[in-house]
Amino acid sequence: MKKKKNKETEVSDKNRLKKETGIVGTVCNDKKCHIHGGLKTRGRIFEGKVTKKFKNRVVIELERMIYIRKYERYQRGKTKIHAHLPQCMENEVGVGDLIRIQECRPLSKMIHFAVIKKIKSAAQRQKSLGGR
Ligand SMILES: [Zn+2]
Repeated sequence: MKKKKNKETEVSDKNRLKKETGIVGTVCNDKKCHIHGGLKTRGRIFEGKVTKKFKNRVVIELERMIYIRKYERYQRGKTKIHAHLPQCMENEVGVGDLIRIQECRPLSKMIHFAVIKKIKSAAQRQKSLGGR
């Protein structure tokens, strides 16, 4: 009788762990994940719109102001950044979403940023734009 009870408590402990981390049903084996893997994010943080999505990688576009000395004025410019998309966020993030990325160690020739958070989905963005 005592042994059976122990097993039950073990199972409930595992379930509790899953609930605490907020990830139920998704398994993350990504070594380059900042939550489950060994990747440390540090440095600059940017927010931008997802323009392209690949496996384990997204391209985000952000608008910024570029100073032009000759005219002493600013010009609108766009910057594209490639960021690593961890396995556990793959289904969550899609094209058109607003996400937050943070700098990390260079993961490849082009990638030195990782997706850390999803701020708004594409549908939510459209609603807020229509309200203006
Ligand atoms: Zn993960």
